[in-house]
Amino acid sequence: MTDLSARLALLDGHLARFRSGGIVNLIGGQDVPGSGGWFETRSPVDESLICQVSRSTVADVDAAAQAARAAFPAWAAMDGAKRKALLHRIADGIEARAEEIALCECWDTGQAWRFMSKAALRGAENFRYFADQAPGARDGQSLQAPGQLNITSRHPIGPVGVITPWNTPFMLSTWKIAPALAAGCTVVHKPAEFSPLTARLLAEICREAGLPDGVLNLVNGFGEDAGRALTEHPAIKAIAFVGESRTGSLIMKQGAETLKRVHFELGGKNPVIVFEDADLERALDAVIFMIYSLNGERCTSSSRLLVQDSIAAKFQAMLVERVNRIKVGHPLDPATEMGPLIHREHFDKVMSYVGIGKAEGATCAAGGERVGDRGWFVRPTLFTEARPEMRIAQEEVFGPFLTALRFKDEAEALAMANGVDYGLTGYLWTADLARALRFTEALEAGMIWVNSENVRHLPTPFGGVKASGIGRDGGDWSFDFYMETKNRAFALGSHAIQRLGA
Ligand code: NAD
Repeated sequence: MTDLSARLALLDGHLARFRSGGIVNLIGGQDVPGSGGWFETRSPVDESLICQVSRSTVADVDAAAQAARAAFPAWAAMDGAKRKALLHRIADGIEARAEEIALCECWDTGQAWRFMSKAALRGAENFRYFADQAPGARDGQSLQAPGQLNITSRHPIGPVGVITPWNTPFMLSTWKIAPALAAGCTVVHKPAEFSPLTARLLAEICREAGLPDGVLNLVNGFGEDAGRALTEHPAIKAIAFVGESRTGSLIMKQGAETLKRVHFELGGKNPVIVFEDADLERALDAVIFMIYSLNGERCTSSSRLLVQDSIAAKFQAMLVERVNRIKVGHPLDPATEMGPLIHREHFDKVMSYVGIGKAEGATCAAGGERVGDRGWFVRPTLFTEARPEMRIAQEEVFGPFLTALRFKDEAEALAMANGVDYGLTGYLWTADLARALRFTEALEAGMIWVNSENVRHLPTPFGGVKASGIGRDGGDWSFDFYMETKNRAFALGSHAIQRLGA
């Protein structure tokens, strides 16, 4: 048996129960079908039906929010050390089922095994990291004033809604759910309709680990009904959302009536800037990795290459050669570097940008075509000779689509880098330390890597500026979102109080 056929056989075994029973919600510890009927989830590999999925309505979301509300007082009051132990048990459960999670994720999303096998384990790491922070999450400061002692402390905000996208759904869900649970919040999770499998696995793992009923609830369904109902529900105190910028703006409107706190991780059009003094071999590896790994369906992808004029021809020639050799294939094949795009809708969007780039007068230097006639495979695509005002240099494509622009000097590079609506990440390649410090100071982005691809360190802040988001995750920043800070002021003596009406 080849690696691929062995993995397909294993996957088949894992999917059997979903094929017969569909994917149902998990509310208050119970498996319950949604009251809105079912929708289908299909694999982007061959468009075959994976299974039916519960379509949740306002009533289902209400039941989940009520379950989260009922479970909140006991969960919030639980000793931090106990929460820590429970979250570590969840991490154990994720590790034990990492292969099943990775297989399902590949089949459901089209992401290649080489990345998804690690993404499952990163989910476990997220739980372990925030588990260890749980006992200290409430700690605050003691602030001295004349005649007064102030004590601050943090308290979980209440039941929260987590709404996630389809690109790396398991890892992203854990990135939100783990800190929420560690903070003492209860959760209602609405995963993306295109990729529901692993959210169900996570909910099951949490239940099996002994998470009390109602602490994590799962509602499947579409954004415009289930997602919307969650953002409008009065029992839900905050919404942690990862997805498109325009959906973020809808959620802000929907949540206005109930004064929702929101945390948004949105889109990007991230620049990678390569100066002539950079280590070009390493820069090349990073440029390719940061746009063509994860099928380019990655918020932090460097989708704009800004390369200095003096090295542009050479660098682009190196790039074309490597891009044309990227292996597109079955996501479960260990040799595959790029799988199919998530869905026909997304495939059409990505392909439409090939037409847009050509019409705008840029050069399609690699890719730009579909691969095969089944599944949503595309060739990794590179456009060169683009100009900053072109749509392919301004809009998020969210696929394996790189737009290359040339710059003369530092000032022009900076203007180009900042000349978009987004500001999630930036990547800079140069050997000049003073330039790196100057440039990164002025670059409009929430996260910047110098002479490196995106390497995450969990205690550091994650998030974007401009249309790329509001708020930060990671380290203690996560707790600032999921918790309220309270200040208590104690008089230390008998200070004079103004005596009105005395
Ligand atoms: P999307 O905005 O279409 O959907 C995301 C989620 O929101 C889904 O669960 C969807 O059902 C739900 N939703 C849609 N409309 C809603 C509404 N009106 N109310 C409530 N919920 C609603 O995004 P997508 O296409 O699934 O994901 C791709 C996008 O996500 C890209 O823009 C990408 O950059 C972004 N993303 C950002 C980050 C980050 O950390 N900044 C990470 C991953 C993905």
